[in-house]
Amino acid sequence: MSDFESVHPKANMKNRFAVLFSVLGLLLASSAVGQTLSGSPAASPVLPYTPSLDLSAMDRSADPCVDLYQYSCGGWKQHNPIPADQTSWSVYGKLYQDNLIFLRGILDEAAAAAERDAVTQKIGDFYAACMDEPAVEKRGLAAIQAELDAIAQLKSVPDLSPLVARLQLAFGRSLLFGNGSTQDPDDSEQQIADLDQGGLGLPDRDYYTKDDAKSKEIRERYLEHVQKVFELMGDSSSTTADHAATVMRMETALAKASWTRVERRNPYNLKHKMKMADLAGLAPNFNWPSYYRALQYPKFEILNVEAPEFFKQVNSELAAEPVENWKTYLRFHVVDSSSPYLSAKFVEENFAFYRQYLRGAKAMQPRWKRCVQYTDFNLGEALGQVYVRKVFSPALKASTLDMVRRIEDAMGQRIRQLDWMSPETKAQALTKLHSIRNKIGYPDQWRDYSPVKIARDDFDGDVQRALEFERRRDINKVGQPVDHGEWGMSPPTVNAYYNPQMNDINFPAGVLQPPLYDAKMDDAPNYGDTGGTIGHELTHGFDDQGSQFDAKGNLKNWWTKDDREKFDNRTQCVEDQYAQYIVVDDIHINSKLTLGEDVADLGGEILAYMAWKDASKDQHLQSIDGLTPEQRFFVGFAQWACANERPEELRMRAITDPHSPAQYRVNGVVVNMSEFPAAFSCKAGQPLVKPTEKVCKVW
Ligand SMILES: [Zn+2]
Repeated sequence: MSDFESVHPKANMKNRFAVLFSVLGLLLASSAVGQTLSGSPAASPVLPYTPSLDLSAMDRSADPCVDLYQYSCGGWKQHNPIPADQTSWSVYGKLYQDNLIFLRGILDEAAAAAERDAVTQKIGDFYAACMDEPAVEKRGLAAIQAELDAIAQLKSVPDLSPLVARLQLAFGRSLLFGNGSTQDPDDSEQQIADLDQGGLGLPDRDYYTKDDAKSKEIRERYLEHVQKVFELMGDSSSTTADHAATVMRMETALAKASWTRVERRNPYNLKHKMKMADLAGLAPNFNWPSYYRALQYPKFEILNVEAPEFFKQVNSELAAEPVENWKTYLRFHVVDSSSPYLSAKFVEENFAFYRQYLRGAKAMQPRWKRCVQYTDFNLGEALGQVYVRKVFSPALKASTLDMVRRIEDAMGQRIRQLDWMSPETKAQALTKLHSIRNKIGYPDQWRDYSPVKIARDDFDGDVQRALEFERRRDINKVGQPVDHGEWGMSPPTVNAYYNPQMNDINFPAGVLQPPLYDAKMDDAPNYGDTGGTIGHELTHGFDDQGSQFDAKGNLKNWWTKDDREKFDNRTQCVEDQYAQYIVVDDIHINSKLTLGEDVADLGGEILAYMAWKDASKDQHLQSIDGLTPEQRFFVGFAQWACANERPEELRMRAITDPHSPAQYRVNGVVVNMSEFPAAFSCKAGQPLVKPTEKVCKVW
């Protein structure tokens, strides 16, 4: 899954047990792939400005009561074709690209400066090493040769465990399976060891199990890709087809034993606390003590195994597959996961399969873009320190925090007013609401990267050392109390998340910029857009999944049986509504997968509307540019989502993305808000006017 880890890098390395509920799915996806250094644009000293309500993005020929998304975003869609190096293009994606140009200016400066502090040295040299393409080209496979040699020397299957440990450290991905630390689901103040499913090359287990023609085609293409990687390593052409078949067979067995994404939405499915002796009973063919010694885990008594059936399958495969096959499997995964950082032929093959074939990109991203992203991914809180100094003022922090507080007040009001919930459950919900930590902009305490050696002439060595630092940091949390100041996204990230075990909402500085949050614009579009995002993250604490965690972040029921039933009936309404929508071709939304996001989208916008009305109650709001304040709220809301997407990308997201496609994240929400038809004088019977008895209301 080389292409996906860099999409949600932090979500992967942090909290394995809890899903981080971000506002975006894969919109900002990017990674892999090589190109020459020439033709790079000049660095921009400031972020370009786009207003949070952009009239040129609208299509006023469309009827908002028929399609608010087209009315608000039709112009944007027309004026913003997908750039060749992107798999989709959106308001968020465009801001992210502007950010990359801005960050590139920071990194060029950091790379060239004569006098540098420790942070500037790290990010400057990391970036410079990445940009030194001739050096990367010359090294070829040298940077991972030691690991390849170690695989070649593997003598027997029982010797596998320390080798898997070593490779997991150096390559930072869930090679064979995932490991790390997690908050104890029963005591969120404690960190315990954690194991999870993993080991696949395709983006999801469903790719291995589905029977339709397209899935079969993808598997054929994947086999070709695996074969090609072995060829690039220099394997004899008489063996590569067999090697690819071996990798496919082993991965398919792992995939079949993996939880589906929908099953993983039930946090109880992922909770299996056990002792080492139990783990040894589950998978006796793997030498766990030797594995944990090799990783230098702190001593622990209890660990959580998220997918016990998966580890039973690993155990069977250890018995069934000879050592030569394990070498083949590991060699492929080591090289495939490193490919974005290796010489051009590996970079190109990685692009051709993961980004071009699977997701529809037409061209590779220029090298500087990839290098900026790798710097953010590997040293995000170093780069972030310089970034926030330039873009995130105390005034901006104060004004966004004020908006957060207003939206939390709206949630409190909303809970108190609910006509379907008992006073007991309401009291619990309010306690949870008041316990939420608001994290805005950047962490109070920056991550200390001083142990990571960054060398200007050793790019993939730098990547390995940075990944190993992250892996060790994660592992060393075992047995330690939880650090509530920690962030799961870097400050430049254009995204936000809620973490149910931390019970916190996190808004990086990157997402609090125009056009998403625009200090120059009136409140209506700002509340519609960023206010809705804040409400969205807040509502995640109370969606079908987040609502199972209590105020402390423990997996503990705080609902009366009757209230829970009523809640489930209400979320069922949302699930049924979204199941009707088409993603691409004949593929419907998997609304059991998107339910949490759909509930959060609806709740978020309702809260934003309430908070905006409250914030502006003493103001005499007037129409601007022919739009009433209420219309500006809804157009501002819709314009966060303006996007163009390639069909390949949509097809992939239909399987992997818990978020619904853009147009439904707009039209699917307003159809459940009575304020919307009132704002546009819509008439009964129009597509975005639901009969009252069919309106879905959760929060
Ligand atoms: Zn979300």
